[in-house]
Amino acid sequence: MFESLSQRLSGVFDKLTGRGALSEADVTEALREVRVALLEADVALSVVKDFVGRVKARAIGQDVIKSVTPGQLVVKIVHDELIATLGTDGVELNLNAVPPAVILMVGLQGSGKTTTSGKLAVRLKKDKKKVLLASLDVYRPAAQQQLEILARQADVGSLPIIMGEMPVAITRRALDVGRKEGYDVVILDTAGRLHIDQELMAEVAAVRDVAKPVETLLVVDAMIGQDAVTLAHEFNEKVGVTGMVLTRVDGDSRGGAALSMRAVTGRPIKFLGMGEKLEALEPFHPDRLAGRILG
Ligand code: GDP
Repeated sequence: MFESLSQRLSGVFDKLTGRGALSEADVTEALREVRVALLEADVALSVVKDFVGRVKARAIGQDVIKSVTPGQLVVKIVHDELIATLGTDGVELNLNAVPPAVILMVGLQGSGKTTTSGKLAVRLKKDKKKVLLASLDVYRPAAQQQLEILARQADVGSLPIIMGEMPVAITRRALDVGRKEGYDVVILDTAGRLHIDQELMAEVAAVRDVAKPVETLLVVDAMIGQDAVTLAHEFNEKVGVTGMVLTRVDGDSRGGAALSMRAVTGRPIKFLGMGEKLEALEPFHPDRLAGRILG
């Protein structure tokens, strides 16, 4: 097992005990360790390189004032830079559309799409929105029923299931019901696959063209690690992502995936999934995740 990021960082920074301005040698030595630690925390290589470069540029020559140790100073610079990379605070959902506003949920199978759809419905209902949930997952047995059960628990609408109906047709019907029955928001839960495949991408793109979503949220399991980069890149290229939701942040993942996905797509992380319950969804705060990464 490798050391955790926070342990490694504190180990590195303990070595920096001098006073005065931080020298290039000090910073280079410390950042070599930061680089390794971020890679071990599953942040993608290209993202790590950029990140370390920025920290280095800021750190060299900084005066170490009496009240902080050089280690604390470098930790602060790393922390600030992490926050800058992770993006803005509490980005709200965009529901700016002639109702119903459509939210398209995309991602791999098992990432937490269906659960997150239910969580978002609960959240929007609290904001007095009338929400309709519709499952487009016609492949996984009982997926549509799973969403129907969640809709009942969340006390929101769910599109009646018609067996054998295909995703684009379900989408059209959901929009139609949404308009006729005065829904504010329609959440479309798409099918996932175990790996990215072009058939999946083509299907999601076809649904998107019909649905014209105001939000396309990529749902990603925080445990995914290095694969987060390819995943976020592919989905963003092929279907256009407007925001991301990182799930299973209640587990012991280090959050490195968030850093990579944000850097690769430039799209905001909007929510964190913090458990299996319908209430376990939190708005994203970069400072909290940066704190978690640094420990
Ligand atoms: P989907 O295939 O993408 O629709 O994934 P599901 O929504 O069915 O989720 C797969 C599993 O992950 C289920 O057992 C969920 O209860 C669980 N799950 C989803 N989000 C979270 C989360 O934030 N934390 C935890 N611990 N489990 C989650």
